[in-house]
Amino acid sequence: MIDLYTFNKQALEKLIAEWGDSRFRADQIWNWLYEHRVSTFAGMTNLPSGLRQRLEAETRLGSLELEDEQASHDGTVKRLYRLHDGQFVEAVLMEYDDDRRTACISTQAGCAMGCVFCATGQMGFARNLTADEIFEQAMLYARDLAARGERLSNVVLMGMGEPFHNYEGSMAAVRRLMSDLGLGARHITVSTVGLVPMIRQFADEGLQVKLAISLHAATDEERSALLPINRKYPLEELLAACRYYTQKSGRRISFEWTLIQGENDTPEQAEKLGQLLRGLNCHVNVIPLNPTTGYGGHPSAQGRIQTFVDILGEYGIPATVRIRRGIDIDAGCGQLKATVLKRRSGRAVSDDTLPE
Ligand code: SAH
Ligand code: SF4
Repeated sequence: MIDLYTFNKQALEKLIAEWGDSRFRADQIWNWLYEHRVSTFAGMTNLPSGLRQRLEAETRLGSLELEDEQASHDGTVKRLYRLHDGQFVEAVLMEYDDDRRTACISTQAGCAMGCVFCATGQMGFARNLTADEIFEQAMLYARDLAARGERLSNVVLMGMGEPFHNYEGSMAAVRRLMSDLGLGARHITVSTVGLVPMIRQFADEGLQVKLAISLHAATDEERSALLPINRKYPLEELLAACRYYTQKSGRRISFEWTLIQGENDTPEQAEKLGQLLRGLNCHVNVIPLNPTTGYGGHPSAQGRIQTFVDILGEYGIPATVRIRRGIDIDAGCGQLKATVLKRRSGRAVSDDTLPE
């Protein structure tokens, strides 16, 4: 069956022409899909009923199957989707008081980067998502929001997987978010663990899409212990690529720093971070660790977080403490999948979907 969500405008026009209908009908369908964002063909009220019936019989909208959904009291909605081959990915929608509606979407089933505190890293890698599978996660939230008169305003590629380990798929999805869902580049953020060649490639794309780097430590020894990829791309190379990006794009770069009590939250680490980033056009997002079953660390206490931020301030580096949204619904990357599979561990979907 034809999945219309995988069609671009030209492909849709071609299909409708083959069916003997005018281009005007293709325009209408496109408009229903991406402007009005309806979820059924029945909702395409200005189409002739014959065309609607044919669409219903021969096409479908999307390939993701909703496996589990949890809503947090803070308005965060987290979904677990089953892909056509039985893999699972998570997507989260965060609602903010200022009308921002931000979807956090996955780029891979699992992840090969093995960061020690990350639930996805603890699962290992299964496969890359296609650009359409990445795009559809945002599309489905956009559709639900449209049904209640709201619009998806931002998308972050910060769910399961490493976007730059699936560079082509991620970038094609980003282009669709801009062209089909009409999101501005500045409302899209790509987060990477620090794959240096792709950071440079991304800078060369000349897009205004935001870039976030998961830093988490300011010395090679500590960073390699938390993020194994640091052994391949150590801090000096990473920071050189970051400088290249800021110069080339003229844009500020964001650094993510997950604060782990007694690990990377000491005043010494803050000082080292301040020295490392001094002079760079950047911003640091400090996020207390979301505890996972595979890692024994704890989130930093409030006082330590504040000291950390204050020290960065002395170096002229702006830092923001991010609240962990949806903490009551396993909204940390990879955590819902881990919980759901544990809960259903008697069922066939459990272990065979987890990579060795
Ligand atoms: N692979 C990309 C994007 C997905 S991870 C990357 O690593 O940047 C998104 C962010 O969540 C990263 O900054 C990652 O380090 C962070 N993260 C992963 N597990 C976490 C946890 N248990 N607690 C807090 N942050 C976590
Ligand atoms: Fe992969 Fe990002 Fe998790 Fe590291 S933090 S294992 S790169 S998803």
